[in-house]
Amino acid sequence: MSDRRTTFSIEVFPPKNDTPVESIYSTLDGLSGIAPDFISCTYGAGGNGTKNATIDICRVISENYHIPSVAHLTCVNSAREDIDEVIAQLRENHIDSVLALRGDRNPNIEPKDDFHHASELIAYLRENAPELHISAACYPETHVDSRSAVTDIYYMKEKESCGAERFISQLFFNNDDYYEFLEKTQIAGIKSPIEAGIMPVTSKKSVMRMISICGASLPKKLTRILNKYEDDPESLREAGIAYAIGQISDLIANDVDGIHLYAMNKPDIAQQIYSAVRNQLSSRPSRARVQLLREPRTVNAQI
Ligand code: FAD
Repeated sequence: MSDRRTTFSIEVFPPKNDTPVESIYSTLDGLSGIAPDFISCTYGAGGNGTKNATIDICRVISENYHIPSVAHLTCVNSAREDIDEVIAQLRENHIDSVLALRGDRNPNIEPKDDFHHASELIAYLRENAPELHISAACYPETHVDSRSAVTDIYYMKEKESCGAERFISQLFFNNDDYYEFLEKTQIAGIKSPIEAGIMPVTSKKSVMRMISICGASLPKKLTRILNKYEDDPESLREAGIAYAIGQISDLIANDVDGIHLYAMNKPDIAQQIYSAVRNQLSSRPSRARVQLLREPRTVNAQI
């Protein structure tokens, strides 16, 4: 683990129901030249008809663009037979990597009773599709349903014990929160790589909606940017991208395992960010990181 460079991955989502699935091609074409370590594609938590699109898009990413793909898969609204069907589709489409998730509960859909948490899905996949590489989600600022950071990291460890080999984090805007979280995961004995989820902010409305769902906090510095440029989309876009580049640059300098860019199907933004950090991404990890991984510092966190 200690001599690995920082990976760079990108997340896309299936086009909305009223848009042809082929429109994803322009997003993927627009990402050309980046050569991310993988592209992941999101999956509806149920009832929105994008399920098969996820697998189709992952096949296109792997076969047409020769980039490893990761299919998100949620379980809260699925029975075992539904997951068996997805496993068959993954095999048919030669997709060997999934991000196994619980999914958000939808008040309008009665959840099924087979899977209550992502760890149960991970264990089921490990047993029934042992060929799959399984990633899972984690939460630097604690999942919104969680009683405490301690229990959240306890269940993160459980996901690893059930078979998760990598974690991708929820978006966050304050790197210090992330470093503190990483130290807690080390204390908890979590060994799998953890990728930092970064979302470039380009609209006040959409970021406010996003944080109301996922509970991420807004640092003062970013709040000032949002307030100053809320009626000036061009400047907000520029400042939001600069903020994301600053975050990513600092994360790479601190030798994080990976950066996962929530690219929101906006390849021009992904390109701008990638070109600002591409040299940093290809440099080797520092000696300081090796030391951090071997000797966790004393932190306030009690795990
Ligand atoms: P879990 O790991 O099950 O955790 C959910 C909550 O339950 C947490 O509070 C946890 O502490 C607790 N918990 C976990 N295990 C147990 C247990 N055994 N007993 C008691 N409590 C437990 N949603 C989508 O619908 N589609 C997507 O494509 C998608 N992609 C995502 C990608 C990333 C990188 C991230 C971070 C999130 C994504 N989400 C997606 C959102 C995700 O589905 C929600 O955050 C959801 O609320 C939790 O999913 P999870 O897999 O983390 O759940």
